[in-house]
Amino acid sequence: MHDDVKNQVKEMLNQDVVDLFLAYRMMDGHPLPFAFSRENIEEVEDLVTGPARYPLEKLALEILKIHPEATLGILARECDQRALNVLSTWNQLEAGRVKTIRLSCCPSNLKEHSDCSYLEPHVSGSCKTELGFEFGAKTEDLEALAPERRFSRWMYEFEKCIKCYGCRNICPVCFCRECSLEHPDLIGTGPLPPEVPLFHLVRAVHMAGRCIDCGLCEDACPAEIPLRLLYGKVNEIVKEVFGYETGTSPGQSPFQVLGTEMMPEPL
Ligand code: SF4
Ligand code: SF4
Repeated sequence: MHDDVKNQVKEMLNQDVVDLFLAYRMMDGHPLPFAFSRENIEEVEDLVTGPARYPLEKLALEILKIHPEATLGILARECDQRALNVLSTWNQLEAGRVKTIRLSCCPSNLKEHSDCSYLEPHVSGSCKTELGFEFGAKTEDLEALAPERRFSRWMYEFEKCIKCYGCRNICPVCFCRECSLEHPDLIGTGPLPPEVPLFHLVRAVHMAGRCIDCGLCEDACPAEIPLRLLYGKVNEIVKEVFGYETGTSPGQSPFQVLGTEMMPEPL
């Protein structure tokens, strides 16, 4: 697979289809995000398609801020493509600026592919199971709990937060230039954890119609907070109310109300 991709990347660069191609390069034994260029075409020999995952589309946004005239290539797994669709829907990417080489690594279910094995449930300690949520828990598991227990488990999870911003920084669809999570009128700058549950609910609201369920935030979170579960529920609500499935198409508007009679159960 690497050789096929390498040949396509070389062709795209040599034929001026793209100015840079974003993928992964094996360096000192580590697959790291890398921008391949025509000038250093020999470096494409070190291109790898995994197992690293990084929001390459976030790098593309940063490059295009500085060089808006550039055309970029991206190695796009299913989740990268969903992120590109969201960024286009939210007017962050101009159509045609990004060309992809697609990797069909997750044909039907994110968890089926070995590169996504990090999404499988971890073996949890009994303390966490008792107080918080099992890793890999689904919204159905959560909704089976009485509201008070659900509430206390979420509070337990949120109180583990060390406000490192890893979840926001890695997120391919967190593109705001000013972040509410750093606004002193909204989120105080006192001791840890950050205001519970405000910090997490502010981020959850911002992920409505944006989160593409790539799992990168949960992977990055040192406190092992089940963030996908939270944003997954938010997007379930968005789907019920607006009929919007995040990331499925670059053109679909998230703002079509289906009917207020369909208001879902609270989180
Ligand atoms: S799963 Fe996390 S990192 Fe991925 S899009 Fe959703 S909030 Fe962002
Ligand atoms: S990555 Fe985890 S610990 Fe860091 S701010 Fe996000 S939720 Fe909190």
